[in-house]
Amino acid sequence: MTLQGAIDTHVHAGPDVRPRKSTAYELARAAQAAGMRAIVLKNHHCSTVPLAAALSEALPGIRVLGGLVLNHAVGGFNLEAVDAALRMGAAQIWMPTLSAENECAYRGHAGAGLQALDEAGRPRPELVAVIRRIARSGAVLGTGHLSARETAAVVELARQEGVRAILVTHPEIDFIAMDPEVQCALRGPGLFFERCFCRTGFRRDWAGLAADIQRVGVESTVLATDLGQPDNPHPVDGLEIIAVRLTEQGIGTDALRRMMVENPAIALGLD
Ligand SMILES: [Zn+2]
Repeated sequence: MTLQGAIDTHVHAGPDVRPRKSTAYELARAAQAAGMRAIVLKNHHCSTVPLAAALSEALPGIRVLGGLVLNHAVGGFNLEAVDAALRMGAAQIWMPTLSAENECAYRGHAGAGLQALDEAGRPRPELVAVIRRIARSGAVLGTGHLSARETAAVVELARQEGVRAILVTHPEIDFIAMDPEVQCALRGPGLFFERCFCRTGFRRDWAGLAADIQRVGVESTVLATDLGQPDNPHPVDGLEIIAVRLTEQGIGTDALRRMMVENPAIALGLD
């Protein structure tokens, strides 16, 4: 399948704290050469918005979009950091990833992380403020590495507050492992499950991923790579591999276009 018009809503490149497969410039050029419409650069430690803007200006024909992940490095649920990123054009604000208590506990550092909910299970006030700000901007809310339970609560709150679009970040990863039944219950306008390249640490192989797509729905799925790790395929190759593997699992071309071209454009508000 051609990548003409395809969008990768979740991809990593350098400069980064960790080694990456390619620099953001190399990645954006490769995506441009493949005819892709847009990529969203994600960095766990800083805003990618200025870098993305410069690359968009330098590379005609492709939109390079950026955002901010609310980890400790930017002060967690830091309204000022969110406000600045959005005013500079952030396409997506992600809930904590590496700094989510859910991931910290999984990696043996319980107590070191950020939680969306208080002891009584209510959304924390600083989270509510952030979500209201995202709603006002029209940007995408990414659920990051919150637990499945926190994610469901954040989705409910985001809907109440009028957030335009939600990407549920790789529900298949080990430490989220959101049950497909729960995913079905969360479906609704503007919400997409961002299903990523199957790799170590994911609960699903390609057959399992295809089964989840069939069960939860093509119309609520966005396919993205989350690649950029040195030992995995280049992200642009990875997007193509996703299409090949899912085709082998019986997912048709129309469905692939919907999940790689149309749904991500709707999520990002590009149309
Ligand atoms: Zn990622």
